Amino acid sequence: MSHPPIVSDLIVVGCGISGLAAAIGAAEEGLSVTVLTKADEPWQSNTYYAQGGIVGNGQDDSGDKLAKDIIAAGVGLNWRESVHLLASEGPDLVDSLLVDRAGIPFSRNGKGELDLTREAAHSVRRIYHHKDLSGRSIQEGLLAYAAQLEGRINIYPHMQALDIITNNHHSTDSQERYRPLRAIGLYVLDARNNEVMNIYGSSIILATGGVGGVYQHSSNPSLASGDGISMAYRAGAAILNAEFVQFHPTTLFHRDVKNFLISESLRGEGGLLVNLDGERFMSRYNPDMMELAPRDEVSRAIYREMDRTGTACVFLDARQIDMNLEDRFPGIHEKCASVGIDISREPIPVVPAAHYFCGGIKVDLEGHTSLPGLLAVGETACTGVHGANRLASISLLEGLYFGYRAGKRSADSGVTPSSRLRKSIPEWIFPVEEDDIDPILVKNDRNTIRSLMWNYTGIIRNRKRLNRALSDLNYFSHRINSFYREARLSRKLIELRNTVVTASLITRAAKSNDNSIGCHYVE
Ligand SMILES: Cc1cc2nc3c(=O)[nH]c(=O)nc-3n(C[C@H](O)[C@H](O)[C@H](O)COP(=O)(O)OP(=O)(O)OC[C@H]3O[C@@H](n4cnc5c(N)ncnc54)[C@H](O)[C@@H]3O)c2cc1C
Repeated sequence: MSHPPIVSDLIVVGCGISGLAAAIGAAEEGLSVTVLTKADEPWQSNTYYAQGGIVGNGQDDSGDKLAKDIIAAGVGLNWRESVHLLASEGPDLVDSLLVDRAGIPFSRNGKGELDLTREAAHSVRRIYHHKDLSGRSIQEGLLAYAAQLEGRINIYPHMQALDIITNNHHSTDSQERYRPLRAIGLYVLDARNNEVMNIYGSSIILATGGVGGVYQHSSNPSLASGDGISMAYRAGAAILNAEFVQFHPTTLFHRDVKNFLISESLRGEGGLLVNLDGERFMSRYNPDMMELAPRDEVSRAIYREMDRTGTACVFLDARQIDMNLEDRFPGIHEKCASVGIDISREPIPVVPAAHYFCGGIKVDLEGHTSLPGLLAVGETACTGVHGANRLASISLLEGLYFGYRAGKRSADSGVTPSSRLRKSIPEWIFPVEEDDIDPILVKNDRNTIRSLMWNYTGIIRNRKRLNRALSDLNYFSHRINSFYREARLSRKLIELRNTVVTASLITRAAKSNDNSIGCHYVE
């Protein structure tokens, strides 16, 4: 794999649904696009692991109905303009880009029609899926489609963006500090040789995904360390709604498997939640809706039940579901079988987990952040669509629609940094004497931060816990920053630094909001 070009029309950081949609939108406008991913392979992303599906054009559906459902889930804190745009134009883009052009093999019924499923809080059936492997099919389909666009999109794995370069902050030309602030490029670590490169673009789109990796229990792969949010914050971009972290009630609890989601549809089909004694404990928390209560209520009930019984997990019993589990839930069946759990014969140990970030880098309807030249799309961005909570299966749609839109519009708004300006930007400065990283310190610091976020800025928050979290995070920030200045760079160290920044942003936002609303719950 070669190095990415030093200057490109558009740089996209991230290769999930939103980054690929942005790259495709821009390439269709004739731009050359450089896509960077810190992962070893282009497919590695949150997108790949999505199970349920993506909102498309439903039965007897309309933009107004979809918007109403999104706003009800978001408890009205949503940005109406953004919701209506997504709801009226997004589903058609799913049909034209994912179904027609990229040929994603969504499941179909006996008549050859798309098999629409329904999830909690959707008023109609409108979700396109491919069994429980929807994200994998979308990711693979978009990668294949991007490869067809006459070589305009080039994807570079192992490339981790470290920081955003701006003219005001980085140029050694004193005149640049008086010119309007603008993001012009990125410092990027090539993990294969530990070199840091300066890469410039006429626009930069962050599509770096979520923040689940900041928590001890998460459904996200560990890549999700909030890198984009942390970089944007350091560069001065506004961050919005950071207290709204959605927790999913059920991920697999097993020593050898991390971050594996047990889809809500298992409960939808009749799966029961029981404690260690086999008791259906939801009757204590929501006797009317039981296992099908809203996601946040079920997460809180499980958290309280674990606390009450002093256990590290509860169980999801799928034995009474009257269907072939291997056929309907092949991904879950296979993953559980790989650690010796036969879901048709025994209950699955589960724990709630950080799942989705409703907040993020504040953007307008075209994806522009408050820092000129910098755009953000997908889970790292706050488009205002989700408000205080996210409707199931809407995030892939949001990433696709706003990603594609930002990519298309970036053709009109970019300014290529001049060679004079580029020459005035210094190379990355390495410490004079680099210490080798002690991997145990990096790992333990990250684990400690994850655990304090889980306990103090987690599913149930209160002032005492948030104060404690902030004071511990301040201590960690200080220590990690000095560590960062002295040690040899590595992906893990960069993620540690971004984890503490993101954790602090979430905790500060949580502390400044005393009202329980949506997925932010304060006692
Ligand atoms: C288990 C699971 C199930 C889900 N199920 C659904 C579902 O059914 N329906 C739905 O709508 N949503 C679902 N979601 C949410 C949805 O999958 C995500 O919100 C969405 O995929 C995010 O897409 P994205 O493009 O923003 O980021 P991602 O897909 O996470 O991609 C992020 C990319 O950024 C790269 N990156 C990160 N930091 C850097 C850096 N510093 N430098 C370079 N590259 C970087 C990563 O390598 C990756 O390529 C699910 C999420 C999970 C985890």
